[in-house]
Amino acid sequence: MEKPKKLHAALLSSPGMGHLVPIIELGKRLVANHGFEATVFVLSSQASRAETEIIESAMTPKLLDIVELPAPDLTATGLSPDESVFARVAAMMREARHVLRSALMALEARPDVLIVDLFGTEHLCIGDELGIPKYVYIATSAWFLALLLHSPTLDKEVKGEYVDQTEPLEIPGCKPVRPEDVADPMLDRSGLQYRDFVRMAGEIPMGDGILLNVWEDLQTETLAALRNEESLGQVVNSPVYTVGPLIRPVRPAGLGKELLEWLDKQPSQSVLFVSFGSGGTLPAEQLVELAWGLELSRQRFIWVLRKPTAKSLDGSYFDVGKVDGGDELFSFLPDGFAVRTRDIGLILPSWAPQVEILSHPSMGGFLSHCGWNSTLESIVNGVPLITWPLYAEQRQNATLLVEEIGVAIRPKELPSKKIVGREEIEKLVRTIMMEKEGHMMRARVKDLKSSAEKAMTKGGTSFESLDKMKEDCKMRIHQIKKGH
Ligand code: UDP
Repeated sequence: MEKPKKLHAALLSSPGMGHLVPIIELGKRLVANHGFEATVFVLSSQASRAETEIIESAMTPKLLDIVELPAPDLTATGLSPDESVFARVAAMMREARHVLRSALMALEARPDVLIVDLFGTEHLCIGDELGIPKYVYIATSAWFLALLLHSPTLDKEVKGEYVDQTEPLEIPGCKPVRPEDVADPMLDRSGLQYRDFVRMAGEIPMGDGILLNVWEDLQTETLAALRNEESLGQVVNSPVYTVGPLIRPVRPAGLGKELLEWLDKQPSQSVLFVSFGSGGTLPAEQLVELAWGLELSRQRFIWVLRKPTAKSLDGSYFDVGKVDGGDELFSFLPDGFAVRTRDIGLILPSWAPQVEILSHPSMGGFLSHCGWNSTLESIVNGVPLITWPLYAEQRQNATLLVEEIGVAIRPKELPSKKIVGREEIEKLVRTIMMEKEGHMMRARVKDLKSSAEKAMTKGGTSFESLDKMKEDCKMRIHQIKKGH
């Protein structure tokens, strides 16, 4: 008997490591566990070392095809080079519409389903043109999705800037969001990125379903609100599939000899990993305070160090993995820091094999910017966090980790607003690494690690959810063929 034809999923990734990683992992998962074929279209922000590494490692073993498309030049659009990362990524996706459409149409095996990320909602119409079902993959938390989907309503109801509100922003059925925790695009309602944000929120329900990089036990109540017809379910109007945690797998030789040797020498759960994702940078003054805080804490650490920037906190978003010069880099640290801490600390310039580091048994804590991939990577490896949100939706992620999930501690004030002083950093580090509060969080995060593993195995909620999405997909293809 002839084998049934596999469904072919076309997935579009917007520029940025944080977008590329989860979409590739979703593609791999669809192929490895759910009988799909997959082609991932990547709009490269730049031919960066880190991006190339991610793409190459995704191809061994080769489960899917990756088509790299050049990121469009935005000069002709008149968009200011100083425009926010969010608006620039949105503009790149818009400008790439024709290229993406042609690339999709040119595929030898025509796709049966289209999956776009948050920045790809304008491309859902290509799914309609091709007559195939289409889904939106939101590779972050359910709570962020709730705020996003509710933003067109807030836009009508709230007067003035969100950050100036004296009360938290109510979202039906969900934990309210503190004004200072709203995502970057919501900080200035007159900005281009705000218009893009609200537009995307309005476009998501045009898809046939939403995929979320979480699992049911992580955000039960928020997921219930997203599905409840009486609350956010009205807006969503299509199924919400939990498919996570989808994170990049550990590469066997990913750490390299020297790093592995260093980590192997450290006692179990004794090292703090300090990293601000692919785009995060700190102001010079904060860098100095952080260095002092680490030194004073006398705890072991690995610090992914980048040159400070004065202008923005996402300063290296489009320069991912570009290695800043060693000597110049050290000149931003307090005099003698590297020598005084050489027995307990390791400084890695610009970029590090994060998943491999976090999965090492010596890891005891993660001082993180709380990008959603980093958040999941920490939880999946049973590592509690110190939250250090900088940009995008990271402030909301940090609050979720501290107040709802209970696996993190945070500075008194947001680091994106105020320099956090050395004494406070010292205390935070010692708390997460040595004190009872830290031990309790480590125990809690290890429980979550087990619940995440369960969700991803056959019979688990995320595994079953992708099977359901596949069934939904088949049903829609059938309906489209019949002309419904
Ligand atoms: N990453 C890495 N090495 C680094 C910095 C980041 O491997 O030095 C990876 C990290 O493991 C994660 C991704 O890049 O998979 C960053 O995604 P996240 O959502 O955490 O943050 P973003 O960079 O999008 O702000």
